[in-house]
Amino acid sequence: MAVQRRMLEPLDLGFTRLKNRVVMGSMHTGLEEEKGGFDKLAAFYRERALGGVGLIVTGGISPNFRGRLTPNATQLSFPWQVGKHRIVTRAVHDTGSKICMQLLHAGRYAYHPFSVAPSKLKSPITPFTPKAMSARQVRKTIRDFGSSARLAQKAGYDGVEIMGSEGYLINQFICSRTNHRTDEYGGSFDNRSRIAIDIVEEVRRRVGSDFIVIFRLSMLDLVEQGSSWEEVVLLAKRLEMAGVTLINTGIGWHEARIPTIATSVPRAAFSWVTAKLRQEVSIPLIATNRINMPAVIEQILDSGQADMVSMARPLLADPEFVNKAAAMQDEAINTCIGCNQACLDHTFKLQRATCLVNPRAAYEKELNFIKAYTPKKLAVVGAGPAGMAFAVYAAQRGHQVTLFEARNEIGGQFNLAKEIPGKEEFSETLRYFRYQFAHLQVELKLNTPVTAALLAQHDFDELVLAAGVIPRQLQLPGFDSPNVISYQQLLRGEARAGSKVAIIGAGGIGFDVAQFLGEAKSATLNPARWYQRWGIDTAYQQRGGLLTEKAREAPPRQLWLLQRKPGTPGKTLGKTTGWIHRAMLKLHGVETLSGVSYQRFDDEGLHIVVEGKERVLPVDTVVVCAGQESNLALLPELQQLGKPLHIIGGAKLAAELDAKRAIRDGAELAMRI
Ligand code: FAD
Ligand code: NAP
Ligand code: SF4
Repeated sequence: MAVQRRMLEPLDLGFTRLKNRVVMGSMHTGLEEEKGGFDKLAAFYRERALGGVGLIVTGGISPNFRGRLTPNATQLSFPWQVGKHRIVTRAVHDTGSKICMQLLHAGRYAYHPFSVAPSKLKSPITPFTPKAMSARQVRKTIRDFGSSARLAQKAGYDGVEIMGSEGYLINQFICSRTNHRTDEYGGSFDNRSRIAIDIVEEVRRRVGSDFIVIFRLSMLDLVEQGSSWEEVVLLAKRLEMAGVTLINTGIGWHEARIPTIATSVPRAAFSWVTAKLRQEVSIPLIATNRINMPAVIEQILDSGQADMVSMARPLLADPEFVNKAAAMQDEAINTCIGCNQACLDHTFKLQRATCLVNPRAAYEKELNFIKAYTPKKLAVVGAGPAGMAFAVYAAQRGHQVTLFEARNEIGGQFNLAKEIPGKEEFSETLRYFRYQFAHLQVELKLNTPVTAALLAQHDFDELVLAAGVIPRQLQLPGFDSPNVISYQQLLRGEARAGSKVAIIGAGGIGFDVAQFLGEAKSATLNPARWYQRWGIDTAYQQRGGLLTEKAREAPPRQLWLLQRKPGTPGKTLGKTTGWIHRAMLKLHGVETLSGVSYQRFDDEGLHIVVEGKERVLPVDTVVVCAGQESNLALLPELQQLGKPLHIIGGAKLAAELDAKRAIRDGAELAMRI
């Protein structure tokens, strides 16, 4: 008999039963605020519920006006607001799955001038200074949580999750960092944590005993003046007594300067803290953060670190995750690569969240791949992200697809991305596509540089040019030296860098190349070194789980990162990850220079002019990362074939190209063709 995975075991909560151990963690999609967005939200959650997840937690909904994250964010405070939530709960319940609504009061993280907090202390990540709450306002807020939970119950939710972590209002009360009050809600730990217990008791009073109450507890604040381990344990025990059903793990305040979910964070990097708490309480605990494949889940559950796991972004990437894991088809999972580019970075820009590797996420009603009425024979030139995505979605529609790739492997520039220390996850996307090509019978022709003559030998109905981009070359004196190399040559191992290197171009690729050259071995694959690097105290002897000193690392070579424009390099990097890239440059001792004009390269090094002054960087190697141009070499001859011709990805437009656009381009064409 086949062994059933631990993640599929039901969990009995006494008054109710969860069908398995997988929670879909809270994510704000932006649909909550769109006109008619709840219909789309229902489709979004329903697809994840059909995909097998046991329990869904919605994006954060505020219990009152001042607690809204943004001025137009959703709140649930009035009976007339219940109806639209019913659309969501019905859609999920039809599938046999369960859904809880998250109650989130942003406190000083609110992005509007009406924000309130325990004390009048501005957060480093918002421009607004909050008003300190009066004791009356605190008591009213506690009642608002209760009313909102009651309305959630009326809307058909199976429970609520009370957001008590990540530095939001409740967390702000708990820690002396943000709580300077002298009344019954400030001062001692008992007073600071009173609001958490009062909210849970009020919620329980309003919803009765047969309703799931999850508390998202900050187990590791990762900020100075955060909670001590003893305080975390004490609060967890009190929450259990107050009637909490499940405790979900919260890691790091949003203002913490330690990565907690980015791709460079080792997988399951924080499950040790959930395991530590499991010895202290008897209610089930949920582990979170960088859990993205079934093997990781099984390891956490098998070793007894947690009772359940929560995944948010991995279920954006693949709504069918649980069903595929149940069928032991791990290879078929479209793995979340932790890039944040289409989910969190979108949320911060007030755009709808979606997923780089799955552009259908949160577009379930808009981007669909229904069977083609007339299947066509399609040729795709180039197996980079654009060509791969097109091939898979077109094949799903029943088209007969042949994918030509000049190199001996699929992936295009993604093959270079996966070589960067800390971006190992990118190889999962290539594994996913390899599986899908075999599964959907996409005919893959590697080592086949396409020419019009080659395509003319077949009777293709339509052609798709996805030949990507070619790195921009610079025509400067001395740049024909073998010591001036392109990022492609470097990352493919076709050329080596010396001990003193100048990188020309400080875009995403320039930063990645600095990381490649500055990090001899990936810390992501060595968690002990990674914790040391970021100053995380896994013995948890210090408040906030911070070490008093971070480990120093000796960079393997001297690096300069250069750009022509003035200002700090890295401004175009993702909102949620740019600071990590900049911190890594600092760690690797990279000198950055802006406003640079490049003169020549010779035996002395790279001659540049900065702020009107000539300077020679004493480098032995120059790596050019000066952007790219569309690869349209084949276009004129393909046009001669007289077949319908489509251009996607970098071949269509090189400016501001990334894999998110390349994959979406492929998907949108596949939907139309
Ligand atoms: P490409 O990836 O360039 O693929 C084009 C393919 O076409 C290639 O495989 C090529 O061999 C093939 N081809 C060309 N001509 C022919 C021909 N005549 N016949 C057959 N095949 C042909 N993007 C992100 O979004 N996030 C990141 O974190 C990120 N990191 C990156 C890190 C590095 C180091 C690099 C280099 C890129 C990174 N990118 C990242 C950019 C991303 O990889 C590109 O935007 C994306 O690959 C572009 O996809 P594409 O399919 O348009 O082109
Ligand atoms: P990019 O971000 O456009 O950066 C190109 C760099 O080259 C810039 O610093 C530019 O700045 C410089 N440059 C442009 N023309 C030049 C010239 N003629 N001479 C000298 N310098 C020149 O492009 P990229 O770094 O090549 O990255 C390509 C795409 O991949 C990006 O759009 C990016 O989104 C994506 N990517 C993303 C990530 C990520 O982590 N999200 C990582 C890697 C790549 P100046 O003009 O000021 O010198
Ligand atoms: Fe994961 Fe990136 Fe998709 Fe976000 S956009 S869900 S981080 S793969």
